[in-house]
Amino acid sequence: MDYQQIINDIYRDCLAEKDNGKLADYIPELTQVDPDKFGIQVTTLDGHGYGVGDYQEKFSIQSIAKLFSFTLALKLIGNALWKRVGVEPSGDPFNSLVQLEHEKGIPRNPLINAGALVICDVLVSELENPKAAFLDFMRTLSGEQDIRYNTTVAESEKANGYKNAAHINLMKSFDNIHNKVATVLDLYYHICAVEMSCEELSSAALLFANNGILPGNKERILSKSITKRINATTQLCGLYDQAGSFAFKVGLPGKSGVGGGIVAIHPGKYTISVWSPKLNEKGNSHKGIQALELFTTNTELSIF
Ligand code: GLU
Repeated sequence: MDYQQIINDIYRDCLAEKDNGKLADYIPELTQVDPDKFGIQVTTLDGHGYGVGDYQEKFSIQSIAKLFSFTLALKLIGNALWKRVGVEPSGDPFNSLVQLEHEKGIPRNPLINAGALVICDVLVSELENPKAAFLDFMRTLSGEQDIRYNTTVAESEKANGYKNAAHINLMKSFDNIHNKVATVLDLYYHICAVEMSCEELSSAALLFANNGILPGNKERILSKSITKRINATTQLCGLYDQAGSFAFKVGLPGKSGVGGGIVAIHPGKYTISVWSPKLNEKGNSHKGIQALELFTTNTELSIF
């Protein structure tokens, strides 16, 4: 299969289509991004990479980080995590508060904001320096040392993050946050403000396609069983209230972020990352979903 030709064609076709999406402006710093950026990267398990457009440019990974913080927390505390966060799709927007009170401060899943805040609380409890440990984890998974926080983006979100503050305070009132609210929020805003390229994200996600083993040095990071659970959760919860139509159109576990990135995983075969900052009404990259749908349709390589 000529992956390079396939993604070149998809890139050209997607560029030719009108994109009515909008930048995420509730985090002011994210409006500084060029809305016309567009990159695609496919990385196969045998280590080959294929990229087109802005695939090597770093961007704000935002909620894509939740896939990795969830993974790190699961590695640290295992099944004890499920007492504090569920694994059901929310069917609600990423930052919706409505379920949280009914469900007594237990978030539906680790990939919505409330769930990711609980995950950050776990990381604060378990790690001496969670910010440094998270970056180290991302560097180990991607094999790339130059992965950093954009502190301007983190501060920009912190200054405007009223809804996340509401989530965490509500969960604290139900005793599902054990550390100081400000400390946990600070970690959350930083992990969302990690900057990575499509190429780096595709490498970092390869272990999910490879039964928990880093394909490069063959190091086992996760058991097969944990990898299965992470991929299943990602399939059902990774695109918020668009997870159903993402499964329908793309047919892969995937995680999006309001920076306009999406990473998707084909267990046993490849990972694919896309970046286009204009978002649809669900907060997911418009062109990104279009490109992923074309890729799995044209290659006939989805998990279904
Ligand atoms: N930092 C963003 C927030 O908390 C992440 C949302 C997203 O990427 O979907 O609202």
